[in-house]
Amino acid sequence: MSEQRKAIVIGGGPAGLATALRLHKHNNITCVIYELRDQPSTLGGAVGIMPNGLRLFHRLGVYDELCARGYGGGMLTLHSAAGGVVGAEDLVGWARSETGFGYLRIKRVDLVDVLLEAVRREGIEVRFGVKVTGVEDGLVHTDSGDERADLVLGCDGIHSFVRKTVVDPGFVSEYSGIAGSFSIVPASRLPARSVNLMHGLHAMTTQEGMFMVNPCTANKDEVMWGFSREVELPGSGRDGWEETRKAEVEGFRDYLLGVLQTATGEWGSVVRDLVQNTSVIKFYPVYRLPLGGRWYKDRCLLLGDAAHAMSPHAGQGVSMALEDTFLLSRLLEDPTRPLPEVFAKFDEIRRPRVNEIYLQAAKNASARKKTGPWGLWMRETALGMYMRVSCALGLGKWGLGQKHLVYDIDEARF
Ligand SMILES: Cc1cc2nc3c(=O)[nH]c(=O)nc-3n(C[C@H](O)[C@H](O)[C@H](O)COP(=O)(O)OP(=O)(O)OC[C@H]3O[C@@H](n4cnc5c(N)ncnc54)[C@H](O)[C@@H]3O)c2cc1C
Repeated sequence: MSEQRKAIVIGGGPAGLATALRLHKHNNITCVIYELRDQPSTLGGAVGIMPNGLRLFHRLGVYDELCARGYGGGMLTLHSAAGGVVGAEDLVGWARSETGFGYLRIKRVDLVDVLLEAVRREGIEVRFGVKVTGVEDGLVHTDSGDERADLVLGCDGIHSFVRKTVVDPGFVSEYSGIAGSFSIVPASRLPARSVNLMHGLHAMTTQEGMFMVNPCTANKDEVMWGFSREVELPGSGRDGWEETRKAEVEGFRDYLLGVLQTATGEWGSVVRDLVQNTSVIKFYPVYRLPLGGRWYKDRCLLLGDAAHAMSPHAGQGVSMALEDTFLLSRLLEDPTRPLPEVFAKFDEIRRPRVNEIYLQAAKNASARKKTGPWGLWMRETALGMYMRVSCALGLGKWGLGQKHLVYDIDEARF
């Protein structure tokens, strides 16, 4: 390999942008990013980023910019379907005291924008509207010509072209059984009484599924809400989603107001206000990759969702991508280490961590499943009891349920 190595990064999402930035700054690797979309602004929703991911964003040099845009605060208040409070706990309290980093909810467009600005400041080339047509070892074919590199990084998300055509063609995403609807509502559209109650993160259990509400901008002028629930795969399979999507988008208000019928009290009003003042929602069936699967072949490595897309219910997708980035960067520090060895070590170190978080996300997703009145009562009672016991015994001090949030990929030994 030559002294100044080159990487082609396919995909300009969080994984691709962060990886290009890190390899350029830390490893002196020349990077070029190919992004399929014409521009980055079509992305929707807001993501929550956990302490393990925020610490890496800090090392990447973009933490302050992210905090200037997103909303911090990891206190979770859990509400019952009847509108009461089941319990409250700081989701990241112990992890914050251990790492100095808490929780951030940020619009996806802001996250990508901050990363893109950082990439541009470094002079890294980003090519939008590029269609990759093939990858052969270090040679990438696109609709606008061919280019060669020492490394090809497939950061092109769950439906990765690089995975499907090069690294693991038979490995396809599967439906998780859970689908979600979400929207971002300007706070100016909501009654002041509702806005005043929106501190931190709120969740509400119902028989149908789970509501989540969280401000997503630093000054709280926009609020994200989401409702995730069990939805059957259409009879016609993947192709049937378009029809379901249309019905969900058209009928969301009536459906959700029906779900909320029994919700009383302040929180019942808050969620109803949000639904009533929402003009449009996005509906998404949650797909994920099964565990296992190949992550590399020849000069090509998959990172982020392209390698290990998981249910979003552990709030770890972005952080997992960042951990991939930092490990790869460390493994490439020695330019004489052969690429097959780099990739094999990457796989060996990342696999157990990814599997652990994947299973956690799947477990969290199951709390969204449909249940009856008894099931709901049991779910609320168990969660309430856990929160009360945890608070009374001070279990938070021992990091119960938060150990995975202080994991530092830079400490992984190899
Ligand atoms: C509804 C939902 C909620 C989520 N909530 C959270 C959360 O709260 N916290 C969290 O951490 N994670 C969350 N996630 C997961 C998180 O969004 C992903 O893990 C993260 O975006 C992965 O980043 P990525 O760059 O690997 O993939 P992506 O974000 O999918 O980016 C891939 C990029 O590659 C581009 N691309 C695709 N194909 C090609 C191609 N052939 N050539 C070139 N470019 C291509 C795409 O246009 C895109 O820009 C959520 C996911 C979903 C679906």
